[in-house]
Amino acid sequence: MCGIVGYVGSRNSVPILIEGLQRLEYRGYDSAGLALIQDGSLMVIKKAGKVVDLVDLIGDANLCSHLGIGHTRWATHGEPNDLNAHPHWDCNKEIAIIHNGIIENYATLKTKLEHDGHRILTATDTEILVHLIEEMYKRADDLFTAVRLALLEVEGAYGILVISKREPDKIVAARKGSPLVIGLGENENLVASDAAALVDHTRQVVYLEDGEVACLTASSFVTKTIHDQEIIKQVEEISFDLEQIEKGGYEHFMLKEIHEQPESIRNSLRGRLLVHDGTAKLGGLEPVLDTLYKAQRIIITACGTSWHAALVGKYMLEQLTGIPVEVDYASEFRYRNPVINPGDVVFVISQSGETADTLAALREAKSKGATAIGIVNVVGSTIARETDAGVYIHAGPEIGVASTKAFTSQITVLSLISLLLGRNRGLPQDQGCKLANDLQSLPEKVAKIFGEASHIQDIAEEFKHAQNFIYLGRGSNFPTALEGALKLKEISYIHAEGYPAAEMKHGPIALIDENMPVVFIVPKDAIYEKVLSNMQEVRARKGRIIAVANEDDREIDSLADHVIRVPRTYSYFGPVVNSIPLQLLAYYIAIARGCNVDQPRNLAKSVTVE
Ligand code: GLU
Repeated sequence: MCGIVGYVGSRNSVPILIEGLQRLEYRGYDSAGLALIQDGSLMVIKKAGKVVDLVDLIGDANLCSHLGIGHTRWATHGEPNDLNAHPHWDCNKEIAIIHNGIIENYATLKTKLEHDGHRILTATDTEILVHLIEEMYKRADDLFTAVRLALLEVEGAYGILVISKREPDKIVAARKGSPLVIGLGENENLVASDAAALVDHTRQVVYLEDGEVACLTASSFVTKTIHDQEIIKQVEEISFDLEQIEKGGYEHFMLKEIHEQPESIRNSLRGRLLVHDGTAKLGGLEPVLDTLYKAQRIIITACGTSWHAALVGKYMLEQLTGIPVEVDYASEFRYRNPVINPGDVVFVISQSGETADTLAALREAKSKGATAIGIVNVVGSTIARETDAGVYIHAGPEIGVASTKAFTSQITVLSLISLLLGRNRGLPQDQGCKLANDLQSLPEKVAKIFGEASHIQDIAEEFKHAQNFIYLGRGSNFPTALEGALKLKEISYIHAEGYPAAEMKHGPIALIDENMPVVFIVPKDAIYEKVLSNMQEVRARKGRIIAVANEDDREIDSLADHVIRVPRTYSYFGPVVNSIPLQLLAYYIAIARGCNVDQPRNLAKSVTVE
């Protein structure tokens, strides 16, 4: 999920790798490291912290190497410490690897490799892969083949670079689901996870595709599929500047992160959804599974967007498991002397895992004897360390201050937990299978919504001068409405309120007139007709209606001024799909108003103060 850079050529690779890693720092990361081949020996230098800490560690050691690989890690498996930092090496310290992504079947591979005598020293999924390559290297003639054979046994996502001191002039690179780009130079070649690390050296690039493996020397490169078919790659010229490259060609990090959601949701599900059994497998919950199965009550505590995800979780957990669920603002929970009974389980949700209020709520819950479970993005963060167990959402680094992909991944993880607990508490397998299939289709459905972007942009243009907005939804789309309103407030500074649609008539209806845009989230679910009635009430008072509705819903056309179409999904998971157009609407309105969407005024990404 983070940064990769490799160099082979006539110059000293060390400063090139360090500068390359610095170019990738914008992505956020927790540790950095290098592997170099110098005078025939393979050395690895790595450190938790920033690239400058790595530079300090190198100090005045006279490193000069014509082949090396460098990594910035964003931990998914194992804490961000020196040992877990990349590169990792095999038992004989002959091969080194750096990896972005997640190896799904690492646990199975690990058991087998340990049985065959491999000593696994770190908690990462990555180290397993280098031992697997070591195993294949015993039978293969060269590193290129060994890597290819190893990858045939791997499930998951990866961008990897591998080097071996037995073949000191080669870098082997491979990708599946995690980008790699080769940069071609004069007497040198480079490879990196994004072009930002290459632009200082070359503009001639070759993009690796999923399922491809490349072997680079200073003067050549060869590409094959992992099934051993040779491929002739097209050399392209990069034309955009560094800033555009960092944002992946998008104008803002927020827009990039909105578009990353098919991938981030897939990463949240990766290796956890057992579609055929209609259930989920969550290794991080294993230590507390018995307590969780017997839970009398679940309390979820969080702040901001995570609190909205918690509310969606309440709807799913109660319906699928029958366990009563309460959702509390962490900032309130910590000071109201909450009642915690034996059998209560407390979930805490935080993107950064450092949110001060959520951390204090967690400590309060633990001091009262509750079992605490974390749902966080940042591996090894304080909340992740202080909870009894937890599930990482694996959304990848989120840079835009307004949370987007972390929200949908939090809900995805809550869906997996609901499915797992539901099945344990009597949800039939066929229903579990239907839900699992629906969960698996979420990334595709989310991707489809991007086709509505220009329509949403037109709507944004029409409403960019609005002073107020109301967002309405029912059931689990009530929290979707809250989140839609929060996104708009955060980045466009328009006053917006989210309400349960039926609650409108108990007060907010007084605000409706021809100047009030009202966003309805109105999928075709069990309460669809009820929401249509609420819509009639707004229409009767001349409110201007923007509806987020299903693709096949024609009835809505006569009621709403604008309709944004989304694919149908089970109502439990609907908020994942339905929140995407709301993120885009907030984004385009904010842009039309000239706001700084990535760094909105007064807001911080990780709120570490009370
Ligand atoms: N899954 C690997 C780890 O946790 C790779 C992390 C990354 O993509 O940076 O070490």
